[in-house]
Amino acid sequence: MNIDKLIQQLEAKHPGEYEYLQAVKEVLITIEAEYNNHPEFEKAKIAERLVEPDRIFSFKIPWVDDRGDVQINLGYRVQFNNAIGPYKGGLRFHPSVNLSILKFLGFEQIFKNALTTLPMGGGKGGSDFNPKGKSDAEVMRFCQAFMLELWKYIGPDTDVPAGDIGVGGREVAYMYGMYRKLARENTGVLTGKNLEFGGSLIRPEATGFGGLYFVHHMLENAGVDIKDKTIALSGFGNVAWGAAIKATELGAKVVTISGPDGYIYDAAGISGEKIEYMLDLRATCNDIVEPYAEKFGAVFVPNRRPWEVKVDIALPCATQNELNEADAELLIKNGVICVAEISNMGCTPEAIDLFLKHKIMYGPGKAVNAGGVATSGLEMTQNAMHISWTAAEVDEKLHQIMSEIHNQCLRYGKEADGYINYMKGANVAGFLKVAKAMLAQGVI
Ligand code: GLU
Repeated sequence: MNIDKLIQQLEAKHPGEYEYLQAVKEVLITIEAEYNNHPEFEKAKIAERLVEPDRIFSFKIPWVDDRGDVQINLGYRVQFNNAIGPYKGGLRFHPSVNLSILKFLGFEQIFKNALTTLPMGGGKGGSDFNPKGKSDAEVMRFCQAFMLELWKYIGPDTDVPAGDIGVGGREVAYMYGMYRKLARENTGVLTGKNLEFGGSLIRPEATGFGGLYFVHHMLENAGVDIKDKTIALSGFGNVAWGAAIKATELGAKVVTISGPDGYIYDAAGISGEKIEYMLDLRATCNDIVEPYAEKFGAVFVPNRRPWEVKVDIALPCATQNELNEADAELLIKNGVICVAEISNMGCTPEAIDLFLKHKIMYGPGKAVNAGGVATSGLEMTQNAMHISWTAAEVDEKLHQIMSEIHNQCLRYGKEADGYINYMKGANVAGFLKVAKAMLAQGVI
Protein backbone atom coordinates (compact mmCIF):
# COMPACT_ATOMS: atom_id res chain seq x y z
CA MET A 1 0.00 0.00 0.00
CA ASN A 2 1.32 3.40 -0.93
CA ILE A 3 0.04 5.40 2.04
CA ASP A 4 1.37 8.77 0.92
CA LYS A 5 -0.35 8.45 -2.42
CA LEU A 6 -3.65 7.40 -0.87
CA ILE A 7 -3.55 10.28 1.62
CA GLN A 8 -2.69 12.77 -1.13
CA GLN A 9 -5.64 11.52 -3.18
CA LEU A 10 -7.96 11.89 -0.20
CA GLU A 11 -6.65 15.39 0.55
CA ALA A 12 -7.31 16.42 -3.04
CA LYS A 13 -10.78 14.86 -3.03
CA HIS A 14 -11.84 16.15 0.39
CA PRO A 15 -9.98 19.42 0.95
CA GLY A 16 -10.45 21.01 4.36
CA GLU A 17 -11.90 17.89 5.99
CA TYR A 18 -9.14 18.04 8.62
CA GLU A 19 -10.61 15.77 11.30
CA TYR A 20 -11.51 13.07 8.78
CA LEU A 21 -8.06 13.19 7.18
CA GLN A 22 -6.41 13.13 10.62
CA ALA A 23 -8.33 10.00 11.65
CA VAL A 24 -7.63 8.20 8.37
CA LYS A 25 -3.91 9.06 8.43
CA GLU A 26 -3.49 7.71 11.97
CA VAL A 27 -5.05 4.37 11.05
CA LEU A 28 -3.19 3.96 7.76
CA ILE A 29 0.20 4.73 9.28
CA THR A 30 -0.26 2.29 12.15
CA ILE A 31 -1.58 -0.61 10.04
CA GLU A 32 0.89 -0.23 7.16
CA ALA A 33 3.32 -2.98 8.24
CA GLU A 34 0.54 -5.50 8.91
CA TYR A 35 -1.24 -4.57 5.68
CA ASN A 36 1.86 -5.26 3.66
CA ASN A 37 2.02 -8.78 5.13
CA HIS A 38 -1.27 -9.46 3.31
CA PRO A 39 -0.95 -9.09 -0.47
CA GLU A 40 -4.59 -10.19 -0.71
CA PHE A 41 -5.63 -6.92 1.02
CA GLU A 42 -3.74 -4.88 -1.55
CA LYS A 43 -5.25 -6.87 -4.42
CA ALA A 44 -8.81 -6.30 -3.14
CA LYS A 45 -8.02 -2.60 -2.48
CA ILE A 46 -9.27 -2.95 1.09
CA ALA A 47 -7.68 0.32 2.28
CA GLU A 48 -9.05 2.36 -0.63
CA ARG A 49 -12.53 0.90 -0.07
CA LEU A 50 -12.41 1.36 3.70
CA VAL A 51 -11.53 5.05 3.78
CA GLU A 52 -14.66 6.18 1.89
CA PRO A 53 -18.09 5.84 3.53
CA ASP A 54 -20.60 3.52 1.85
CA ARG A 55 -22.98 6.49 1.63
CA ILE A 56 -23.88 9.78 3.26
CA PHE A 57 -27.37 11.15 3.71
CA SER A 58 -27.72 14.87 4.23
CA PHE A 59 -30.97 16.70 4.74
CA LYS A 60 -32.47 19.94 6.01
CA ILE A 61 -34.47 20.10 9.21
CA PRO A 62 -37.02 22.91 9.34
CA TRP A 63 -38.73 23.39 12.72
CA VAL A 64 -40.54 26.12 14.64
CA ASP A 65 -39.09 27.64 17.84
CA ASP A 66 -41.06 28.89 20.87
CA ARG A 67 -41.43 32.37 19.42
CA GLY A 68 -43.06 30.95 16.31
CA ASP A 69 -39.99 31.61 14.14
CA VAL A 70 -38.92 29.02 11.57
CA GLN A 71 -35.46 27.55 12.17
CA ILE A 72 -33.47 25.49 9.66
CA ASN A 73 -30.69 23.10 10.62
CA LEU A 74 -28.68 20.56 8.65
CA GLY A 75 -28.81 16.85 9.43
CA TYR A 76 -26.58 13.97 8.35
CA ARG A 77 -26.12 10.23 8.62
CA VAL A 78 -22.81 8.75 7.48
CA GLN A 79 -23.09 4.99 6.85
CA PHE A 80 -19.43 4.09 6.77
CA ASN A 81 -18.99 0.33 6.73
CA ASN A 82 -21.32 -2.60 7.49
CA ALA A 83 -19.06 -5.56 6.71
CA ILE A 84 -19.42 -7.06 10.20
CA GLY A 85 -22.89 -5.86 11.24
CA PRO A 86 -25.51 -3.09 10.88
CA TYR A 87 -24.16 0.47 10.84
CA LYS A 88 -23.89 1.58 14.46
CA GLY A 89 -22.87 4.87 16.02
CA GLY A 90 -24.19 7.93 17.77
CA LEU A 91 -25.78 11.20 16.77
CA ARG A 92 -24.07 14.46 17.71
CA PHE A 93 -26.03 17.70 18.10
CA HIS A 94 -23.56 20.58 18.29
CA PRO A 95 -23.07 23.80 16.30
CA SER A 96 -19.61 22.59 15.18
CA VAL A 97 -21.05 19.51 13.44
CA ASN A 98 -20.03 19.19 9.79
CA LEU A 99 -19.20 16.35 7.43
CA SER A 100 -15.51 16.25 8.33
CA ILE A 101 -16.34 15.67 11.99
CA LEU A 102 -19.03 13.07 11.27
CA LYS A 103 -16.78 11.25 8.79
CA PHE A 104 -13.94 11.10 11.32
CA LEU A 105 -16.33 9.80 13.97
CA GLY A 106 -17.90 7.27 11.59
CA PHE A 107 -14.48 6.05 10.46
CA GLU A 108 -13.25 5.57 14.04
CA GLN A 109 -16.48 3.82 14.89
CA ILE A 110 -15.75 1.01 12.38
CA PHE A 111 -12.64 -0.09 14.30
CA LYS A 112 -14.03 0.64 17.75
CA ASN A 113 -17.10 -1.45 17.06
CA ALA A 114 -14.97 -4.26 15.62
CA LEU A 115 -12.92 -4.27 18.83
CA THR A 116 -16.01 -4.79 21.00
CA THR A 117 -16.29 -8.36 19.61
CA LEU A 118 -19.98 -7.65 18.83
CA PRO A 119 -21.42 -7.62 15.28
CA MET A 120 -21.67 -3.89 14.61
CA GLY A 121 -20.52 -1.85 11.60
CA GLY A 122 -19.58 1.84 11.75
CA GLY A 123 -21.74 4.91 11.24
CA LYS A 124 -22.35 8.35 12.72
CA GLY A 125 -24.74 11.22 12.29
CA GLY A 126 -26.01 14.41 13.78
CA SER A 127 -26.88 18.01 13.23
CA ASP A 128 -25.53 21.52 13.71
CA PHE A 129 -28.49 22.12 16.06
CA ASN A 130 -27.37 23.60 19.40
CA PRO A 131 -29.46 22.16 22.25
CA LYS A 132 -27.99 24.70 24.70
CA GLY A 133 -30.47 27.35 25.75
CA LYS A 134 -33.39 25.58 24.03
CA SER A 135 -36.61 24.81 25.89
CA ASP A 136 -37.72 21.22 26.34
CA ALA A 137 -40.51 21.77 23.82
CA GLU A 138 -38.01 23.09 21.26
CA VAL A 139 -35.74 20.09 21.76
CA MET A 140 -38.75 17.81 21.28
CA ARG A 141 -39.86 19.54 18.08
CA PHE A 142 -36.35 19.49 16.70
CA CYS A 143 -35.85 15.78 17.50
CA GLN A 144 -39.16 14.95 15.83
CA ALA A 145 -38.29 16.98 12.73
CA PHE A 146 -34.86 15.31 12.60
CA MET A 147 -36.39 11.82 12.79
CA LEU A 148 -38.98 12.67 10.13
CA GLU A 149 -36.07 12.49 7.67
CA LEU A 150 -33.73 10.03 9.37
CA TRP A 151 -36.24 7.22 9.83
CA LYS A 152 -36.12 6.33 6.13
CA TYR A 153 -32.49 5.31 6.36
CA ILE A 154 -32.33 3.38 9.65
CA GLY A 155 -33.71 0.14 11.11
CA PRO A 156 -32.88 -2.37 13.86
CA ASP A 157 -30.92 -4.57 11.42
CA THR A 158 -29.77 -1.79 9.08
CA ASP A 159 -28.47 1.19 11.02
CA VAL A 160 -28.86 1.80 14.75
CA PRO A 161 -28.10 5.36 15.97
CA ALA A 162 -27.57 6.38 19.62
CA GLY A 163 -26.33 9.39 21.58
CA ASP A 164 -23.12 11.42 21.45
CA ILE A 165 -22.35 15.04 22.40
CA GLY A 166 -25.66 16.92 22.85
CA VAL A 167 -27.75 13.74 22.58
CA GLY A 168 -28.65 11.93 25.80
CA GLY A 169 -31.63 9.97 27.11
CA ARG A 170 -34.11 12.80 26.57
CA GLU A 171 -33.24 13.31 22.89
CA VAL A 172 -33.09 9.57 22.16
CA ALA A 173 -36.56 9.21 23.71
CA TYR A 174 -38.07 11.99 21.57
CA MET A 175 -36.51 10.50 18.44
CA TYR A 176 -37.64 7.00 19.37
CA GLY A 177 -41.23 8.20 19.85
CA MET A 178 -41.28 9.68 16.35
CA TYR A 179 -39.62 6.63 14.79
CA ARG A 180 -42.04 4.11 16.26
CA LYS A 181 -44.99 6.21 15.11
CA LEU A 182 -43.69 6.47 11.54
CA ALA A 183 -42.39 2.92 11.18
CA ARG A 184 -45.20 1.33 13.19
CA GLU A 185 -42.81 -0.90 15.07
CA ASN A 186 -41.23 -1.15 18.53
CA THR A 187 -37.71 -2.39 17.96
CA GLY A 188 -34.14 -1.69 19.01
CA VAL A 189 -33.69 0.94 16.28
CA LEU A 190 -31.99 3.35 18.68
CA THR A 191 -29.88 2.59 21.74
CA GLY A 192 -29.54 4.65 24.88
CA LYS A 193 -33.32 4.43 25.37
CA ASN A 194 -35.00 4.87 28.74
CA LEU A 195 -35.46 1.70 30.77
CA GLU A 196 -39.25 1.75 30.36
CA PHE A 197 -39.12 1.16 26.60
CA GLY A 198 -36.20 -1.13 25.95
CA GLY A 199 -33.16 0.70 27.37
CA SER A 200 -30.38 -1.23 29.06
CA LEU A 201 -29.24 -0.84 32.64
CA ILE A 202 -25.68 0.56 32.85
CA ARG A 203 -25.87 2.14 29.33
CA PRO A 204 -25.84 5.76 30.63
CA GLU A 205 -22.65 5.26 32.63
CA ALA A 206 -21.08 2.61 30.34
CA THR A 207 -18.62 4.82 28.44
CA GLY A 208 -17.10 6.15 31.67
CA PHE A 209 -17.19 2.77 33.44
CA GLY A 210 -15.63 1.01 30.45
CA GLY A 211 -12.95 3.70 30.22
CA LEU A 212 -11.93 3.14 33.81
CA TYR A 213 -11.93 -0.66 33.40
CA PHE A 214 -9.55 -0.18 30.49
CA VAL A 215 -7.29 2.23 32.41
CA HIS A 216 -7.26 -0.23 35.31
CA HIS A 217 -6.00 -2.95 32.93
CA MET A 218 -3.35 -0.63 31.47
CA LEU A 219 -2.00 0.17 34.92
CA GLU A 220 -2.22 -3.42 36.13
CA ASN A 221 -0.29 -4.60 33.09
CA ALA A 222 2.44 -2.10 33.99
CA GLY A 223 2.41 -3.23 37.62
CA VAL A 224 0.93 0.05 38.88
CA ASP A 225 -1.88 0.26 41.46
CA ILE A 226 -4.70 2.71 40.57
CA LYS A 227 -5.42 3.25 44.27
CA ASP A 228 -4.70 6.82 45.47
CA LYS A 229 -3.71 7.99 41.98
CA THR A 230 -4.88 11.50 41.07
CA ILE A 231 -6.94 11.93 37.90
CA ALA A 232 -7.71 14.97 35.74
CA LEU A 233 -10.97 14.68 33.81
CA SER A 234 -12.20 17.19 31.25
CA GLY A 235 -15.85 17.97 30.53
CA PHE A 236 -18.82 16.79 32.53
CA GLY A 237 -21.19 15.35 29.94
CA ASN A 238 -22.42 11.87 28.99
CA VAL A 239 -18.96 10.43 29.66
CA ALA A 240 -17.17 12.15 32.56
CA TRP A 241 -19.68 11.46 35.32
CA GLY A 242 -19.53 7.66 34.85
CA ALA A 243 -15.74 7.95 34.76
CA ALA A 244 -15.72 9.94 38.02
CA ILE A 245 -17.96 7.39 39.78
CA LYS A 246 -15.90 4.36 38.68
CA ALA A 247 -12.53 6.06 39.33
CA THR A 248 -13.62 6.82 42.89
CA GLU A 249 -14.90 3.26 43.35
CA LEU A 250 -11.50 1.92 42.26
CA GLY A 251 -9.79 4.07 44.90
CA ALA A 252 -8.44 6.87 42.70
CA LYS A 253 -9.11 10.57 43.27
CA VAL A 254 -10.65 12.77 40.54
CA VAL A 255 -9.43 16.34 41.04
CA THR A 256 -10.67 18.19 37.95
CA ILE A 257 -13.71 18.55 35.69
CA SER A 258 -14.30 21.26 33.12
CA GLY A 259 -16.87 23.17 31.08
CA PRO A 260 -17.00 25.90 28.45
CA ASP A 261 -16.23 28.47 31.18
CA GLY A 262 -13.03 26.85 32.57
CA TYR A 263 -12.14 24.08 34.99
CA ILE A 264 -12.60 23.09 38.64
CA TYR A 265 -9.69 21.93 40.78
CA ASP A 266 -10.88 20.14 43.90
CA ALA A 267 -7.97 18.65 45.87
CA ALA A 268 -10.42 16.82 48.16
CA GLY A 269 -11.73 14.77 45.23
CA ILE A 270 -14.88 14.99 43.09
CA SER A 271 -17.14 12.17 44.24
CA GLY A 272 -20.50 11.27 45.83
CA GLU A 273 -22.84 14.20 46.39
CA LYS A 274 -20.54 16.47 44.35
CA ILE A 275 -21.21 14.35 41.27
CA GLU A 276 -24.96 14.45 42.01
CA TYR A 277 -24.76 18.22 42.30
CA MET A 278 -22.99 18.51 38.95
CA LEU A 279 -25.55 16.28 37.24
CA ASP A 280 -28.35 18.57 38.48
CA LEU A 281 -26.42 21.70 37.53
CA ARG A 282 -25.70 20.36 34.05
CA ALA A 283 -29.41 20.04 33.35
CA THR A 284 -30.03 23.74 33.94
CA CYS A 285 -26.75 25.61 33.44
CA ASN A 286 -25.53 24.76 29.92
CA ASP A 287 -22.51 22.77 31.15
CA ILE A 288 -20.80 25.58 33.07
CA VAL A 289 -18.83 24.45 36.12
CA GLU A 290 -18.07 27.66 38.08
CA PRO A 291 -20.94 27.28 40.62
CA TYR A 292 -19.26 24.08 41.88
CA ALA A 293 -16.32 26.11 43.25
CA GLU A 294 -18.49 28.24 45.51
CA LYS A 295 -20.65 25.35 46.64
CA PHE A 296 -17.78 23.06 47.65
CA GLY A 297 -14.95 25.52 48.35
CA ALA A 298 -12.88 24.42 45.36
CA VAL A 299 -10.76 26.40 42.89
CA PHE A 300 -12.27 27.64 39.61
CA VAL A 301 -9.80 28.49 36.85
CA PRO A 302 -11.60 30.45 34.10
CA ASN A 303 -11.00 29.86 30.39
CA ARG A 304 -8.32 27.21 30.81
CA ARG A 305 -8.14 23.45 30.40
CA PRO A 306 -7.31 21.07 33.26
CA TRP A 307 -4.10 19.66 31.72
CA GLU A 308 -1.95 22.16 33.66
CA VAL A 309 -2.75 20.42 36.96
CA LYS A 310 -0.15 17.95 38.29
CA VAL A 311 -1.81 14.51 38.15
CA ASP A 312 -0.88 10.85 37.66
CA ILE A 313 -3.57 10.15 35.06
CA ALA A 314 -5.22 12.41 32.47
CA LEU A 315 -8.54 11.40 30.89
CA PRO A 316 -9.93 13.65 28.14
CA CYS A 317 -13.71 13.18 28.27
CA ALA A 318 -15.03 16.12 26.24
CA THR A 319 -14.32 16.34 22.49
CA GLN A 320 -11.81 15.81 19.69
CA ASN A 321 -8.34 17.43 19.78
CA GLU A 322 -8.91 18.80 23.29
CA LEU A 323 -5.36 17.94 24.42
CA ASN A 324 -2.56 19.40 22.29
CA GLU A 325 1.24 19.23 22.16
CA ALA A 326 1.76 22.00 24.74
CA ASP A 327 -0.68 20.27 27.10
CA ALA A 328 1.16 16.97 26.58
CA GLU A 329 4.50 18.62 27.36
CA LEU A 330 3.12 20.04 30.58
CA LEU A 331 1.55 16.75 31.65
CA ILE A 332 4.82 14.89 31.00
CA LYS A 333 6.82 17.55 32.88
CA ASN A 334 4.41 17.11 35.79
CA GLY A 335 5.01 13.34 35.87
CA VAL A 336 1.85 11.94 34.24
CA ILE A 337 2.01 8.13 33.88
CA CYS A 338 -1.10 7.42 31.82
CA VAL A 339 -3.24 9.36 29.34
CA ALA A 340 -6.37 7.67 28.03
CA GLU A 341 -9.00 9.19 25.74
CA ILE A 342 -12.55 8.61 26.87
CA SER A 343 -13.57 11.21 24.26
CA ASN A 344 -13.18 10.40 20.56
CA MET A 345 -9.72 11.42 19.20
CA GLY A 346 -9.17 13.55 22.33
CA CYS A 347 -5.45 14.12 21.66
CA THR A 348 -3.84 15.82 18.66
CA PRO A 349 -1.32 13.74 16.62
CA GLU A 350 1.53 15.88 18.01
CA ALA A 351 0.45 15.16 21.59
CA ILE A 352 0.28 11.42 20.86
CA ASP A 353 3.78 11.49 19.31
CA LEU A 354 5.12 13.01 22.53
CA PHE A 355 3.45 10.39 24.73
CA LEU A 356 4.84 7.58 22.59
CA LYS A 357 8.31 9.15 22.52
CA HIS A 358 8.36 9.41 26.31
CA LYS A 359 6.90 5.89 26.70
CA ILE A 360 3.92 7.23 28.62
CA MET A 361 0.99 4.81 28.68
CA TYR A 362 -1.39 6.19 26.06
CA GLY A 363 -4.85 4.70 25.35
CA PRO A 364 -6.70 5.77 22.15
CA GLY A 365 -10.43 6.52 22.22
CA LYS A 366 -11.27 3.61 19.92
CA ALA A 367 -10.24 1.20 22.66
CA VAL A 368 -10.77 3.22 25.83
CA ASN A 369 -14.29 4.53 25.12
CA ALA A 370 -15.61 1.41 23.37
CA GLY A 371 -17.62 0.49 26.48
CA GLY A 372 -20.40 2.89 25.45
CA VAL A 373 -21.09 1.36 22.08
CA ALA A 374 -20.42 -2.14 23.46
CA THR A 375 -23.25 -1.65 25.94
CA SER A 376 -25.37 -0.33 23.07
CA GLY A 377 -24.64 -3.66 21.38
CA LEU A 378 -25.82 -5.40 24.54
CA GLU A 379 -28.98 -3.26 24.44
CA MET A 380 -29.59 -4.41 20.84
CA THR A 381 -29.21 -8.04 21.95
CA GLN A 382 -31.69 -7.60 24.81
CA ASN A 383 -34.18 -5.90 22.45
CA ALA A 384 -33.84 -8.66 19.86
CA MET A 385 -34.43 -11.28 22.56
CA HIS A 386 -37.27 -9.25 24.15
CA ILE A 387 -35.69 -9.53 27.59
CA SER A 388 -33.67 -7.34 29.93
CA TRP A 389 -30.60 -8.25 31.90
CA THR A 390 -29.81 -7.09 35.45
CA ALA A 391 -27.29 -4.32 36.05
CA ALA A 392 -24.82 -6.89 37.37
CA GLU A 393 -25.17 -9.03 34.20
CA VAL A 394 -24.59 -6.05 31.89
CA ASP A 395 -21.69 -4.75 33.97
CA GLU A 396 -20.01 -8.14 33.94
CA LYS A 397 -20.32 -8.38 30.14
CA LEU A 398 -18.99 -4.82 29.79
CA HIS A 399 -16.04 -5.71 32.01
CA GLN A 400 -15.30 -8.82 29.94
CA ILE A 401 -15.45 -6.86 26.68
CA MET A 402 -13.06 -4.17 27.96
CA SER A 403 -10.66 -6.82 29.16
CA GLU A 404 -10.80 -8.54 25.74
CA ILE A 405 -10.12 -5.20 23.99
CA HIS A 406 -7.11 -4.75 26.26
CA ASN A 407 -5.88 -8.22 25.32
CA GLN A 408 -6.20 -7.43 21.62
CA CYS A 409 -4.16 -4.24 22.14
CA LEU A 410 -1.43 -6.23 23.90
CA ARG A 411 -1.41 -8.80 21.12
CA TYR A 412 -0.95 -6.32 18.28
CA GLY A 413 0.67 -3.39 20.06
CA LYS A 414 3.62 -4.82 22.00
CA GLU A 415 6.92 -3.39 20.82
CA ALA A 416 10.39 -4.99 20.97
CA ASP A 417 11.30 -3.18 24.20
CA GLY A 418 8.03 -4.26 25.89
CA TYR A 419 6.30 -0.86 25.54
CA ILE A 420 2.64 -1.26 24.61
CA ASN A 421 1.63 0.93 21.70
CA TYR A 422 -2.11 0.82 22.35
CA MET A 423 -2.85 3.02 19.33
CA LYS A 424 -1.21 0.53 16.99
CA GLY A 425 -2.69 -2.44 18.83
CA ALA A 426 -6.25 -1.10 18.64
CA ASN A 427 -5.98 -0.02 15.01
CA VAL A 428 -4.44 -3.28 13.79
CA ALA A 429 -6.84 -5.53 15.74
CA GLY A 430 -9.93 -3.58 14.63
CA PHE A 431 -8.72 -3.31 11.05
CA LEU A 432 -7.89 -7.02 10.66
CA LYS A 433 -11.39 -8.07 11.67
CA VAL A 434 -13.08 -5.71 9.21
CA ALA A 435 -10.59 -6.37 6.40
CA LYS A 436 -11.05 -10.14 6.67
CA ALA A 437 -14.84 -9.75 6.58
CA MET A 438 -14.62 -7.51 3.49
CA LEU A 439 -12.25 -9.91 1.77
CA ALA A 440 -14.48 -12.92 2.44
CA GLN A 441 -17.56 -11.13 1.08
CA GLY A 442 -15.99 -10.12 -2.24
CA VAL A 443 -15.99 -6.80 -4.04
CA ILE A 444 -19.33 -5.18 -3.17
N1 GLU B 1 -21.36 8.00 20.67
C1 GLU B 1 -20.78 6.87 21.31
C2 GLU B 1 -19.46 6.52 20.67
O1 GLU B 1 -18.77 7.42 20.24
C3 GLU B 1 -21.74 5.70 21.43
C4 GLU B 1 -22.29 5.18 20.14
C5 GLU B 1 -23.37 4.11 20.30
O2 GLU B 1 -23.70 3.75 21.41
O3 GLU B 1 -23.85 3.67 19.24
O4 GLU B 1 -19.03 5.41 20.61
